[in-house]
Amino acid sequence: MKGKYADIIVDIAHEKLDRTFSYIVPESFKDSVDIGSAVMIPFGRGDRLIKGYIVSFSDTSDYDESRLKCINDVIDENNGIDDRMVKLAAYMRARYGGTLIQSLKTVLPMRKKAAQIEHRTVIRTADTESITAEYGECIRKHRTAQARLLNELREAESLPYELLTGKLGVSAQTIKALEARGLIRIERSLSYRNPVKLKDGSAGELLLSKEQLNITDSYKEALDKGESVRYLIHGITGSGKTNVYIKLIDDALKAGGQAIVLIPEIALTYQTLKRFYSHFGERVSVLNSTLSPAEKYDQCKRAENGEIDIMIGPRSALFTPFKKLKLIIIDEEHENSYKSEMTPKYHARDVAIRLSELSGASIVLGSATPSVDAYYKAKAGEFTLFTLKERHTGQTLPDVWVADMRDELMAGNKSMFSRRLSALIEDRLSKGEQSMLFLNRRGYAGFISCRECGEVIKCIHCDVSLSLHKNGILVCHYCGYEIPRPRLCPKCNSKYIGEFKAGTEQVEEKLKMLYPGIRTLRMDGDTTKKKDSYENILSAFANNEADVLIGTQMIVKGHDFPNVTCVGVIAADMSLNAQEYTAGERTFELLVQAVGRAGRGDKKGEAVIQTYQPEHYAVLCAQNQDYEGFYEEEIAFREICGYPPAAHMLSVMIMGKYEESVKSLAETLALVVKCDKDFKVVGPAPAAIGKINDVYRYVFYMKDESERKLLSARERIEDEIKKLSPTEQIQFDFI
Ligand code: ADP
Ligand code: ZN
Ligand code: ZN
Repeated sequence: MKGKYADIIVDIAHEKLDRTFSYIVPESFKDSVDIGSAVMIPFGRGDRLIKGYIVSFSDTSDYDESRLKCINDVIDENNGIDDRMVKLAAYMRARYGGTLIQSLKTVLPMRKKAAQIEHRTVIRTADTESITAEYGECIRKHRTAQARLLNELREAESLPYELLTGKLGVSAQTIKALEARGLIRIERSLSYRNPVKLKDGSAGELLLSKEQLNITDSYKEALDKGESVRYLIHGITGSGKTNVYIKLIDDALKAGGQAIVLIPEIALTYQTLKRFYSHFGERVSVLNSTLSPAEKYDQCKRAENGEIDIMIGPRSALFTPFKKLKLIIIDEEHENSYKSEMTPKYHARDVAIRLSELSGASIVLGSATPSVDAYYKAKAGEFTLFTLKERHTGQTLPDVWVADMRDELMAGNKSMFSRRLSALIEDRLSKGEQSMLFLNRRGYAGFISCRECGEVIKCIHCDVSLSLHKNGILVCHYCGYEIPRPRLCPKCNSKYIGEFKAGTEQVEEKLKMLYPGIRTLRMDGDTTKKKDSYENILSAFANNEADVLIGTQMIVKGHDFPNVTCVGVIAADMSLNAQEYTAGERTFELLVQAVGRAGRGDKKGEAVIQTYQPEHYAVLCAQNQDYEGFYEEEIAFREICGYPPAAHMLSVMIMGKYEESVKSLAETLALVVKCDKDFKVVGPAPAAIGKINDVYRYVFYMKDESERKLLSARERIEDEIKKLSPTEQIQFDFI
């Protein structure tokens, strides 16, 4: 919607974004300007011509028209990093809603200048033999943190301080203790120095197999021709994706380019970072959540000034202001954390595609279990698919058993561990090997299922499970369909029908009852609230300080534990029956990852998936590590039900203090689009989590094959919101 007037920002520094100036849009420019356009405007007393960006349009102005000046010119070409960032933000606004300012704030670094940032490096001062001797000593005395650090120092001559205190989970006291004993010293400087210095030859040349070379050669060829590419690499863990990334980056850098590598925070492990550091040394920088805003700003400045060429980090590292961006890598592209939970609710994958168009960079996505969305794009020819089938770690995949929990009940086993899983845990205890028990608590339980036949009560319209509300009613969170809670199973009449409950604490308790003296570690939202505790728990487990690690999805990612030879998925149904259309995809991906945790060392692993729905394709395909099979089933379901990526989906969430007014606003807004006959509007209904912190949440959805139609529907809803200016908050989500 363009108006007579435009609001323009003249300085796109983060903190000056809210200062806009009003200008008249001359009739002759009406067609060539849009939100995000760069324009020349007369500014200040002398009417000096300066550059600005349009952030919004309006038909009225707070100022007298006679006092307003006109836009002087529209600039078309893409000039430099600012233009690119504003264009990217404009794309995000158009796709995900909200204001351009909100998008700009997401894209631009917060300008926070620290006095001067000091970089600390830990440097080894003793020789390898003494370090190794000390290491042995610490192991004997159970000084695990010191041992961990010394072990790293056997290979590396110097390591960045932050990498040790962050990802390696070593405390400042531990470092001090080694310093006091003359084994290391800490060097402070104002600039980065070669952050990881390994013993000669340990970084070495990359060995690449034929499969891997296939990818890197094809990229090199495109690079030589000055073309950009879009690749999707489907490769199981250990198939050498990281080595491929390193080679691709190497080539991009040699061609004078720069690279962004996105890795989910949870998978950004010490080992992975060390590999990048040891190859690229001081040209690498890492953005992560432990950095202060001043440090983040510092990193962005260094990127902009060309002091570094590679930025590694989670989602927001995508916005690194590289002037010569040539390559964007998204590892574990299926990860949910690439989707922002705040307005604009962007997905890094989609924004990366736009960024590649604006910058001419190539995109490489990698995953062991590609998202249905990315695979769909590859099948449609938007991405070139590469598959890595060989594993280079010399390990074979574990044997996977599916335990049908209905049979367990029938056989009189009412506990939460199947007979197969109990036997395996016991066996590992006797051998001194470790087990991991995984409780798949994505979303939350709340569905009703039958323990005798496995039946789950689902919405007849949406094919997702209904969830139980306190008043005893089952509700669909997509369309609002409701039925009273049944007392008997509608399929087999069993009375064993009820809410599905299980928590990590319960699992731990039961385990301790069954096996007195068993050493357990638990990792979930409760035990990882403290900073660093995530790394601490994992390191403790890696040090064999427990027999069993029990946890939520956090434990299935990233880390390798060579002594883990048994993995149990306690209740695959937890995520299988989450109240969202992606439940099958999430389950498959988590099961494949969980199973893959068993047998990472030289001993063969075994895994047990416990479920009431052993015939479900997500379970069967995970058992056989059959991605293709899973994809075919899943995409058929999406196509039949009109869910993404077969169609687009726009959801509108209304949040407010008073349930009645939230509900009625949701209905009013839904009506704006419901009158459009050829449009499918679902809901409004209470959201999957209907109330958070006393704020009620209602949601409605639209599904359509046309992206354009949905985006124009959103604009109509946004216009209505402007008209009503309600006190409730409204959030759009476009998929
Ligand atoms: P991914 O990122 O797919 O999980 P990695 O790149 O971490 O896989 O590779 C797993 C292990 O295999 C690493 O130790 C790596 O050094 C090794 N590796 C990778 N490619 C090869 C190869 N072509 N030949 C031998 N070893 C390899
Ligand atoms: Zn039943
Ligand atoms: Zn429904």
